[in-house]
Amino acid sequence: MSPAYKWYAPTFTKGRPARHGVRRGPRRGLAGSAQCFSAGGAMGAGVAPDYRAVVRRLREVNGPTMLDGHSNPFEVLIATILSQRSRDETTERVFQALRARWPDARALSRARVADVDRVIHSIGFHRQKARGVVAAARAVMDRHGGVVPSTKEELMALPMVGPKTAGCVLVYAFGQATAIPVDTHVHRVSNRLGWVATRTPERTEEELERRVPRDLWLDLNSLFVDHGKHVCLPRRPRCGGCPVARWCERVGVA
Ligand code: SF4
Repeated sequence: MSPAYKWYAPTFTKGRPARHGVRRGPRRGLAGSAQCFSAGGAMGAGVAPDYRAVVRRLREVNGPTMLDGHSNPFEVLIATILSQRSRDETTERVFQALRARWPDARALSRARVADVDRVIHSIGFHRQKARGVVAAARAVMDRHGGVVPSTKEELMALPMVGPKTAGCVLVYAFGQATAIPVDTHVHRVSNRLGWVATRTPERTEEELERRVPRDLWLDLNSLFVDHGKHVCLPRRPRCGGCPVARWCERVGVA
């Protein structure tokens, strides 16, 4: 298996140094950061969040996430569709099997949905996803001559593509700071930090794009996904060792 396609592997060592210069050292940022902890955060009322400090600190400690280092738009598109409500490890395995049999948009557009379903059956929502990836491939072929479009509007007109998937393609494949893809991790971390006060990922995306300086957009998904998976966990966030605790309001955290 070519390392170029191991997007989801925990041992993945490729990254996007040109984009955000993530240090490929020890992951997670737990060690040595207890001094950063300040219960309740250091931001007073009316004080703007220190977006740059948080991003800078996470760049120092985070590892790459599943899509880091990948740049083939069609593969980012298909893998992001497959990843919806699925674990990265499962997504990677299923994606590799899919790619081995149908390596590009042309091949996948000609596939039978039932055959695709058989290949990806171990992933959740496999029937829906089988229909979706074949439909997306056909739309890319029919509407765009086999070239994945590079605007949010065109991407979101494809089957199975919502704001997050479109954003992932724009950010990870095209390197465009034109979206902040928001999944459950980005939504949770953004709210706990006090950067937004929103109920849905869609609103979080809108608010982040309104508030966060654009030069930080490319990194935000990768940094917050990694942080949300390993430190700012859904149930028991590891605030005591969190590298960005000094800038966090810990909204909703007991
Ligand atoms: Fe804030 Fe999450 Fe860090 Fe806790 S783990 S301090 S809630 S960012």
